[in-house]
Amino acid sequence: MTVEEKIRHWMHGREDELVEALAPLIAAESTRSEAKPGMPFGEGPAKALDRALELARRWGFRTENHEGYVGTADLNEHADGLHILAHLDVVGAGDGWDTDPYCLVRDGDLIYGRGTDDDKGPLVAALLAMRCVRELGIPLTKNVRLIMGTDEESGSEDIEHYYASHPFAPYSLSPDADFPVTNIEKAHYCPRFSASWKRTEAPGIRVLALNGGIRVNVAPANCTCLLENADKAQLEAVLKQVSGETGVSLSAEFQGNTAKITAVGVQAHASTPDEGKNAITATLQALCALPLAEGAAEKTVRQLHECFPYGDNRGKAMGIAMEDKVSGCLTLTFSMVHLDTEGFWGIFDSRDPLCATEENTCRVTEARMAAFGWKCEGKLGPAHAVDGNSDFIKTLLSAYETYTGRKGYCEAIGGGTYVHEIPGGVAFGAGEHDFDSHLHGANERARINQLLKTAMIYALVIGNLCA
Ligand SMILES: [Zn+2]
Repeated sequence: MTVEEKIRHWMHGREDELVEALAPLIAAESTRSEAKPGMPFGEGPAKALDRALELARRWGFRTENHEGYVGTADLNEHADGLHILAHLDVVGAGDGWDTDPYCLVRDGDLIYGRGTDDDKGPLVAALLAMRCVRELGIPLTKNVRLIMGTDEESGSEDIEHYYASHPFAPYSLSPDADFPVTNIEKAHYCPRFSASWKRTEAPGIRVLALNGGIRVNVAPANCTCLLENADKAQLEAVLKQVSGETGVSLSAEFQGNTAKITAVGVQAHASTPDEGKNAITATLQALCALPLAEGAAEKTVRQLHECFPYGDNRGKAMGIAMEDKVSGCLTLTFSMVHLDTEGFWGIFDSRDPLCATEENTCRVTEARMAAFGWKCEGKLGPAHAVDGNSDFIKTLLSAYETYTGRKGYCEAIGGGTYVHEIPGGVAFGAGEHDFDSHLHGANERARINQLLKTAMIYALVIGNLCA
């Protein structure tokens, strides 16, 4: 029997075992809360970590709890050849669940519960892969260390703490995204721009306030605006037209000579703005279709609309649209704005391909904004890129193809993964693009056989990388 077949054979029929190992981890409600001694991210993550370490010991691995930030499980006594990074913390359950989010529920091949997919299920799959390699006696000359983090969802202070006192491994993988391989995470530029002015009482329709967005990295679904002296019939006609053009629902309430506009769009992650409908840029479009006054606030509204027209998610109007072959195109989301009668500030979130530099991104934006008299501050956060033609990536893709029969390839994404700060690290599984796990949503789920397949892929990778 080949090693590939031995691994497949060893994993056969382990569905129950995997589910039983995972259930106590799902039952630990590991959202970040107030720090306590030895529990830097609160009691929930600490409880999940204790249970994961207990599982690793039961499966015969030497473990260590690193001051409550991460736990580690080692495959052997050799020097580290591979780090596998998975995490035990979860985002809050939220509403809309059909089952208890903190109780694993099995329905055929599906399992439901917060963390089944992100990332407790893949973590158990990685541990199972390590056990498979050990029990099959696949010869290794290097160690595999599973690093079990407890703070991926709220800033990754966990692995920052760990790597502050431990060396990186030659290879690092994280089963915290989708197969096949994510080898490029784009650069990140989120400037804050602002201006202030003296209140003016220009005649005509005045903008008293404009507020939109909740976070820098979220394409905004909400925006409100307070207008003075707008004609009701004219405003309603404009809002109706812009609602139709953009798909963002705009409405107005009138009180005396002021009107409050409310825009409701569709929220999305800032790295995938095409999936959302931006409430701020739709509101700007509507405002600019009105005969606004000639004051400073109204002028700023027109300039913002010029920089961020609705639907321009590539930075064309800002003058920074760019793309390259390996990492794709720049995306831009105007994510937050606050404007009143004396000034404004705004933030956009751009995810920038490898061809982006301070020169062709930040300087261009700053010059554009300086022409309006705005202040603009922000730096280009570095991209993370690993050579897609390296032996390391070839080993991963070949293991993936062996057990899935699918074609392996590399991907670039706009978001950051758990390995963004780890030299040479890539995200590898454990989901597939054609399966919706309801990530971070209600009824999060995973497929048992996909997790076992992940374990097979990881076992083969370990055998090949650490031989
Ligand atoms: Zn995750």
